[in-house]
This record gives sequence, structure tokens and C-alpha cells, in this order.
Amino acid sequence: MPEGHTLHRLARLHTEYFAGGPVRVSSPQGRFVDHVVVDGRFFDHATAVGKHLFHHYEGGLAVHVHLGLYGFFDTHFVSRGDEAPAPVGQVRMRIGAVRPGGGALDGPAHYVDLRGPTRCEVIDEAGVAEVRGRLGPDPLDPDADPDRAWSRISRSARPIGALLMDQKVLAGVGNVYRAEALFRAGLDPFRPGVELERAEFDAVWDDLVELMAVGVDTGGIVTIRPPHDHGDVPRRGSDRPRNYVYQRDGWACRVCGDDIRLTTLDARTLFWCPTCQTR
Ligand SMILES: [Zn+2]
Repeated sequence: MPEGHTLHRLARLHTEYFAGGPVRVSSPQGRFVDHVVVDGRFFDHATAVGKHLFHHYEGGLAVHVHLGLYGFFDTHFVSRGDEAPAPVGQVRMRIGAVRPGGGALDGPAHYVDLRGPTRCEVIDEAGVAEVRGRLGPDPLDPDADPDRAWSRISRSARPIGALLMDQKVLAGVGNVYRAEALFRAGLDPFRPGVELERAEFDAVWDDLVELMAVGVDTGGIVTIRPPHDHGDVPRRGSDRPRNYVYQRDGWACRVCGDDIRLTTLDARTLFWCPTCQTR
């Protein structure tokens, strides 16, 4: 499942591609009937909170997208004078810039195809506020208030590993950032939230702010610290370590050499190192 950095990156890119002009919106698959409401409308900008993406249109309307487990955007580029190719397969929503003169684009432009989302709907700005209101603070939102997350965590008997994944507690953190942030903090994922100290929570929050911003900039999750990334090759090379515990069960911990473990918590896989994560 995409994590918050993916949605924030998409918001940034879609703003870059489409903001400041009208867009053509269609539903080749036919399941997004409301596309007609925004087709031809002025695209103002895109935002993201947690795992939700919003395309904001003039007139106070927004397209709300949640990718769920399987959804993704295909991004394409059309050269000057060319038509966008016909959609292939099940495209819920296609969006592309409109150039003066309609039809064929008179300049190079991007278009994107949305496939397999859990949600793709037109809502108004009150609806956007409602979605935002249901979510905990998002580490990628510069105005986020971590106190809101702390007030829930510090009163909960649930394990911190479960709380970090709960979108009502913290928005945008998924399985990878959850596992990696807990490892970097040395925190036992099964420790109840109520037993955490404020300084421990603050350290995790600050770490997520930093790690997820790297994710937005690069499009990938890299959590390895320089001492554990040996060699001179740039660390994003395919042969370089990128993370500590996620999907490394059975492999040696990069720090202590113990086996990375895998278990299930709230029906999701959880990866951790029992030797490093004892706090
Ligand atoms: Zn370890």
C-alpha cells in the first residue's frame, strides 16, 4: 500500500502538471460517473493528507482519491502536436491539460491515468475538511500538531506498533515507515502507548518528519543511516541497503546481527529486531 510520501509527491507533481488551467477529465472505464462535473474545469492545485489525495477545482469542488491497496497513477507525457494514446485496461480517471483550441495538444503535456483506487469521488470543500478532520496529524504537513497524536498514544493500552499505523492517530504512516521508525528509535513495537515517554514519541515524530520528506523528494523510502551503508556508491543504487527491517525477516540485522523477525499485528505484517528494539 502506498504510504503518505507517495500521495504528497503526487500532489506536488499534479499541481506542477495541471494547476492554472482547465483540464480534461474522463473515466474510460465508466465507473467514475461524476467526472463530468469537473471535466473542462479550472484545476487550482492538488493537496494530500495522509494517504488521501485531493484535486482542487474552481468553484469549491475537489476530486478525492484514496489508492487503497492496489491503486496507482500512470503518468504519461505527450509530445508537442501529438494526441494522448487511447487508454489501455481499466482506467478509472484520466486527467490531462487542455490547450486552447481543444482537441490535440498544441504543446507538450502530461496526462495521468488512475487505476484501481478504493475511492475516486467528487466532493466539496466541506467534504475535504471532513476527511481531514477524521485523520491524525500528518508528519508531512508543516502545520501538523503532534500533540494530537501524543494525546491519543499516551492514553492507549494498544501497542505503539499498532498506534503508528492507525490513521486516526497519525496520518500517512504505513507498514514500512512504521517498522523503520520504531527500529531507528530502538522501540519495542509491542510496548503499550501509555508506557511511552513524551521524549520517545517526539523522537519518533521528528524522525518521521525527516524520513518522509526524503520519500517525497526521491519517491522512495530510504531509512538507512550512513554508518550502516558501507561503500562509495550512491546509496540509492540498486545494490545498496535502503532500510533496516522491512521485508528483511530471516536476514541478519544490519546493526546487531540477530535475525530480523516477522509477526502479525492487527492483521498486518510487522518486522522488527528483538535485540535492538528493547526500549
Ligand atoms: Zn538488531
